[in-house]
Amino acid sequence: MKRDIRLAVLLLFVVCFSLALLTVWKVWSSRERALNEVDFHSLNLTQALDTYAEGIINQSSMLLLGLVERLETDGSEPQQIARLRALVSQQQRLLSQVSGVTIYNQTGDWLMSSNSPVKAGTNSSDRAFFIHHRDNPSREVFIGLPIRSRATHEWVITVSRRFDHKDGQFAGVVALTLGIENFLSLFGKLDVGQEGAIGLSYADGQLLVRYPFREQDMGRNFSQSPIYTQYLVDRTVGTASFASSIDGVERLYAFRKNEHLPLVTTVAMGKNEALATWRMEACLSVGVVLTLLVVIGGIGRRLIRDINRRTEAEAQLVVAREALLQTNQRLEMLASMDQLTGLANRRRFDEVLVTEVKRACRERMPLALLLIDIDYFKLFNDTYGHVAGDEGLRVVSRVLQQCVKRPSDLAARYGGEELAVILPNTTEAGAVTVAERVLELLSQSNTVNASSPFGRLTVSIGVAVMPVAHPQDAAIALVEAADQALYSAKAAGRNRVAVHAALQQEEQPPGCQA
Ligand code: GH3
Ligand code: MG
Ligand code: MG
Repeated sequence: MKRDIRLAVLLLFVVCFSLALLTVWKVWSSRERALNEVDFHSLNLTQALDTYAEGIINQSSMLLLGLVERLETDGSEPQQIARLRALVSQQQRLLSQVSGVTIYNQTGDWLMSSNSPVKAGTNSSDRAFFIHHRDNPSREVFIGLPIRSRATHEWVITVSRRFDHKDGQFAGVVALTLGIENFLSLFGKLDVGQEGAIGLSYADGQLLVRYPFREQDMGRNFSQSPIYTQYLVDRTVGTASFASSIDGVERLYAFRKNEHLPLVTTVAMGKNEALATWRMEACLSVGVVLTLLVVIGGIGRRLIRDINRRTEAEAQLVVAREALLQTNQRLEMLASMDQLTGLANRRRFDEVLVTEVKRACRERMPLALLLIDIDYFKLFNDTYGHVAGDEGLRVVSRVLQQCVKRPSDLAARYGGEELAVILPNTTEAGAVTVAERVLELLSQSNTVNASSPFGRLTVSIGVAVMPVAHPQDAAIALVEAADQALYSAKAAGRNRVAVHAALQQEEQPPGCQA
């Protein structure tokens, strides 16, 4: 039963543990899948946005290239500038992202602005892009940081080139402004959730545009962000997850550095938001599994309780059976015991005598029987009363019990005041020794019987020994022989032992073939 409980507990543990483990594994892998899907989706977005940004910059570069080529070929005289203005206004219509084109001379004075008439004395020699071109002979396109346009007062990104005199000296700058609004309106159309963000930055971490737009973010530098310090160090595209330095929100980032331009596109999704669906499903799964575990636990508890109950019931049954066995044994003992003397009763005596006769026959052993009769007992009763007579009977019985030593010996009440002792495997000499010991012990007890010539309670004992081979009704013959010996003892004066002459031996009697 203990083993059954151990097995039940083990089974419950294995089932519950596997279920819990499976659920944890399933929930964890679905979380990984959800995150991977977000990364995949965001990486695709960065690809599209990167291509978009590159396209705009390339188109702007081509426009600048054309203007610079004309300025360098035809010079920057007022009539040339007027022709360029016409050209620009045509091309600007084709390039909706371009919010304005401005031409500056070598001192930073405005020569032309596509959006407004040039006011005398307007100078932009302090602008970063102008300083860059003036001090740097490179003829490459320069993408500037966001600035507020002096013409429209909107946030713009400048894309500019320098143009030179024929002798190679710096002649001025052509700058084209891209309105941040154009980027923001596109970024705003993409679904990146409530906590999502899209950013376009310089390769060194300087922010160009960020959606959602916040005035205070303009001009921010993200060079210390993990994307720049850890990831963009050895790769140009990838994903990452960390808390934003802008608002502290944990986001999943996908970033991509343009292959030709110093631009980085970043798409970020709020991690909490990205995992919302997964979280709901996980809660549902965990809830279902927990319910299942509770049900299994409940069933298991019942099972163990039932096993325990059965164990207890079985234990009680064993106790009851033991008690019953003991009662039966006691009943059996009572049924075979004489109430007055505590010796075996006549029924028992008869059973044992038959059994011992058979055994003696089988094992070819002698069997002795003592028949004991109390002398002058009638007179004892008459003198002292029956209650004292009963006590006298008990005295003799105790003496008998003291004299029979072997476990196989049996002292019994044969009937009335006649007692008997069966002595298996005992020779005549042994039986006489036991009988004489009875007389001796009884004399030591010295129970007064005034009506006896001996003055005390005495017994006469008849001894008979069954020979090794004997007839089948040997039990009766043995009792009769002992009885005759007893009679002889009485006749010889009582308080003595008389031995019956050995029973006549027969040749292998039938039924004694053991
Ligand atoms: P004897 O020496 O020849 O044996 O003389 P006796 O008086 O003992 O004669 P007998 O053996 O015939 O005695 C039988 C008497 O034993 C009858 C009865 O008074 C007494 N007796 C038998 N059974 C009991 C008993 O259970 N209790 C008592 N108190 N006396 C009994
Ligand atoms: Mg008698
Ligand atoms: Mg008698």
